[in-house]
This record gives sequence, structure tokens and C-alpha cells, in this order.
Amino acid sequence: MNITLYPLGAYVSGYCLPFTIELDGMDQTDYGQAVSKGLFEANYKNGDGNVLSSRCQRCGHVVIGSVVKCCKECSGIFIEAKQTDEEWIVCDYEDVPSEFVGEYDLSSDFFDYAGLLAESNLDKDVFSAGFACGLALDEIADRYVGSYSSDADFAEQWAEDTGSINTSLAWPYTCINWEWAAHDLMMDHDSFAGHYFFRS
Ligand SMILES: [Zn+2]
Repeated sequence: MNITLYPLGAYVSGYCLPFTIELDGMDQTDYGQAVSKGLFEANYKNGDGNVLSSRCQRCGHVVIGSVVKCCKECSGIFIEAKQTDEEWIVCDYEDVPSEFVGEYDLSSDFFDYAGLLAESNLDKDVFSAGFACGLALDEIADRYVGSYSSDADFAEQWAEDTGSINTSLAWPYTCINWEWAAHDLMMDHDSFAGHYFFRS
């Protein structure tokens, strides 16, 4: 997962200075610092940003919009200052669900999503399917039933898994119209791209 941003002032002045942030494993604090570093390191060919910002020469910590005398991360005192932009816009992103990307930034919910994605062991496609079914982020893992090739396949697996049917019997098991059975089951479920969820 990554996102590419442009410093806004430079962009408005006709300079595209994109920087890309790899988001895997980041929390919101890491992300904020990565944005600050991207703004600080964007090199203007002409003109300057509208705020004075600083970077610690020992650990690289950046503060946008002020010049600190002593780095709050490492207590370093060799501070480099320059004019930078303080705002940015989104240029591009990869593997981040579009729900979490606005014109100007990632939504803060993105980091909740990334945390749940890591914790739940569910594939990101499951989350995308959940969003497509209108579920909220915190409902998806709880309501996820599984992945099936069709409604009929879902109904058949469901019947077996819940013990609704004795699969050792050839007849009448082999005569069941699973598409018809699925019709009823889907009253209580939603699906998207092969992923199935309980409806509330
Ligand atoms: Zn430092």
C-alpha cells in the first residue's frame, strides 16, 4: 500500500514534486512524519514554500512550519532550516481502498483499517467486498462468512457446515436445487466478488 502526494504550493505554481509514502506497518504518527519529510525534501526549481521548516541533522526528524532549536526526538542541536510548503494534495495511491483517500489526504480511518487488516488475517479483498456491501469497517471481520464461487456453492457449504443435511446420503442430497436454497439464504446475507457476509 502506498500513497503519492504533491506539495500544494509548488503544484499550484506549476511544479509537480511528487513523493511516495509506503504505508505498510505505519501508524498515523509515522505517516505524519513521512509527509513532513516529503514536504521538506521536495526540491523547488524556482521559488520557495510559504513556511519555514526545520530538520534535525542527527536523526532527520522534520518539523513543518517552525524552526526548533533542539530536536524533540533525539535532542540533537544541529538543525537545518528552509522554506517548504505546509500543505499537500493526493496525486496517486496503490492498494489503498478509495474509501480512505480524499483529494487532500488519507482519512484517519485508514490507520484503523490498516490495523484491523493486520490483526484479522483477512485479505484486503474481503474488506473491499465488505465496503461494497455497505458494511462499516468494524463490522466486516465479525460478519464475514467466507468465500464461495456462487450463491449455490455458499448454500451447499452452509448446509453442510451447520449440519442441516446429512451428506453421507446420496439421495435426496443429490437432488437439492442449491440455487433455490441459496435464494432464501441470501435474504440474510450480502455478497460481493465471491465474499459473503451476514446481514444485520
Ligand atoms: Zn533529532
